[in-house]
Formats: sequence, structure tokens, C-alpha cells
Amino acid sequence: MTSSTPKAAPGAALYDGFGRRLHYLRMSVTDRCNLSCTYCMPQQGLAKLPQGQILTLEELARVARVAVGLGVDKIRLTGGEPLLRRDLKSLLARLSALEPRPDLRLTTNGRLLTDNLAMLLELGVSTVNISLDTLDPQRYGAITGLGVEEGARAFAQVWAGIQAALKSGRLAVKLNVVLLAGVNEDQIAGFARLTLTLPLAVRFIEYMPVGRQTGFLPQRFLAAEQALAIIRGLGDLQPLPARPGDGPAQRYALPGAQGELGVIGALSSHFCATCNRLRLSAEGLLVPCLFSGQALDLKAILRGGGSDGELAQALRAAAAQKPRHHLQTPLDHRPSGCQMSRLGG
Ligand code: SAM
Ligand code: SF4
Repeated sequence: MTSSTPKAAPGAALYDGFGRRLHYLRMSVTDRCNLSCTYCMPQQGLAKLPQGQILTLEELARVARVAVGLGVDKIRLTGGEPLLRRDLKSLLARLSALEPRPDLRLTTNGRLLTDNLAMLLELGVSTVNISLDTLDPQRYGAITGLGVEEGARAFAQVWAGIQAALKSGRLAVKLNVVLLAGVNEDQIAGFARLTLTLPLAVRFIEYMPVGRQTGFLPQRFLAAEQALAIIRGLGDLQPLPARPGDGPAQRYALPGAQGELGVIGALSSHFCATCNRLRLSAEGLLVPCLFSGQALDLKAILRGGGSDGELAQALRAAAAQKPRHHLQTPLDHRPSGCQMSRLGG
């Protein structure tokens, strides 16, 4: 135990008002991105946060340390594109030195994964979630706003990153696929088939109304159940048992598959009962629920001379603000909360 790591005293764990223990912190480390995915970024673009508004390495590490003292045992770094952050290695080094050491994970669009793989392995990252919504390089360019040529180049970078991560044999690899009606439903079977030969987990995620400036196109919504119906056409889909601490995905495997599949029915089937997480946005807002407008300004405490005790109190307050469940449905939705590219999904 490092001298500065607060011990998780008995009873110090974070609980919300509904008895859910929150042991998973997602930290967005930047709002910068090298893609402009149509469902994430507003069409008109999004102003970058001034650099001074983004939490520093020390601030992020401090929040993580206090959270670990409250029993947080899993930390995901996200963004924006987290691999664009120059001091990511130093941040990961700080996080991996915490005791008890949290399970460190990363969500990335994968463009810079190959170049950063050795660093992620060295610092003990256990899992990378790579966001990829199509296996068609041309369509990748359309979805990510890169256009045909750059899109095809970027697709090749992402695919190389996925292969390198798998080849390392030391990282769990998940692919995050946002389900988009009229855009990628014809890709679902192809993604599912990848699990037959590759030891990766594919997660089909329902398109969510998050981020007021991006808006939400209801005609693009595709229910997780529709994806499952397509996948069932490929073989006898076996449900996999839920594991302790599992996220919101319902997991399945195709017969003889090396990998697994999961669907996350964010809107169509509320997963809130198993919610175990808090989120920290790049500008230091602690967000109790992805869909709520509520946020607690942790940066004000960090930069106002607040003590570790005050930070812990703020984490508890955010936990207490978690709603029992969100109120969005496929038919009744209002884009809510922080922009995804600042909060990190
Ligand atoms: N840039 C990284 C990436 O794309 O993996 C990390 C940040 S990104 C905001 C995190 C995740 O949020 C991605 O898997 C992305 O597909 C997902 N996401 C963004 N906007 C979404 C939306 N409106 N509905 C569902 N998922 C969304
Ligand atoms: Fe796409 Fe992630 Fe960038 Fe959003 S933050 S535009 S999902 S790569």
C-alpha cells in the first residue's frame, strides 16, 4: 500500500440509494478525437474544451486514488479518443501503482492502438474495447466522417490494431458495435461470425440519445432484440451465465465459437438494476447516470483546495444521486446529459 492510498475502511464502499454498490469508475481523459462519428459528434462540430478546463494528470490520478479508497476496483479510461492524450502513459502508470490495484481498461476507436499496444501491455491494461461499427472500409469512412479514402486508411489502422491486440495474447479484446438502422444492420452477421474464429467479444449496443448537441435520430434506432434475431439465424445461440460484476450486456455464444457476443439494450430493456458505475467527464463533471442531466463539479473541489475527504464526499453524493433507472424508451426519448465525446460512453 502506498502511503497516500486511503485504505478502503469497512463500510466505506460506495452505495447508491437503491443498494447498488458502485465499484466501477469511467474516466474520460480528453474531449479530443480523431474521428467524428455521426451518432456521437454534432453535425456542426463541437467546440473543443479549452485545455485548462480538462482535468490534469494529477487531478485524474487523485480522483482515482480516492475512488479506489472507496472500493472502486475497475477503472476505464475513455474519451474522446484516450490514445490522443499525451500523458496517458504516465496516468496509467499512476493508476497501476494504486493499491489495491484496480482492473484497468480502455475504450478506444483503435486508430492508434498498434502504436500504443506495448505501452498498454507494460502497464497492465487488461481489456480494450475497440469501437467499430462496420467491417466495410468505405462505410467506415461515412460513419466516422472521414470520407472514402481516409476512411479506408483508418479502417486498416483499426483492423491492424485489433489483430495486434489479439496476437499479444495478453489483452481481452471487445468490439463495441453501435446498432444503427439503415446503416449497419447488414454488418451484424459479419461481426457475429468473427467470434467463430477469433477469441474476442462483440458487443452490440443500442444507439442512445445522449448529448443534447448531437441530437437523436429515432429512425436510426435498432433494438438489440432485432440484432439477436439476425444472429440466431447463424446457429443455435447459447446464453452465457452472468458473472459477478458483469456489465449490462446479455452474453451469448454461437456453437463452437472462440469468442462471444453480447447485446446491450440500453433503451429497449433497462439494464439499470445492475448498474455499478460512476462517470467522470473530461472537464471534471461527476455524472451519476448517462441519461440524467445531473452532474457534480469535481473540478471545483479539486481546484478549490478540497481535501481527499471532500472528494470522497462528492463521490458519495454522486452515488446518492443515481436514479433507480433512466426514463428513456425507444419511443419516448430526449437527448440528455453530457456530450458522449466528453463523457466517454
Ligand atoms: N473514442 C473512443 C471510442 O470511440 O471507443 C472512446 C469514447 S466513445 C464516446 C465511447 C463509446 O461510446 C464508443 O463505443 C461509441 O461507439 C459509443 N457511443 C458514442 N455515441 C453513442 C450513442 N449515441 N449511442 C450509443 N453509443 C454511443
Ligand atoms: Fe467516435 Fe469515440 Fe470519437 Fe465519439 S469519441 S467520435 S464515438 S471515436
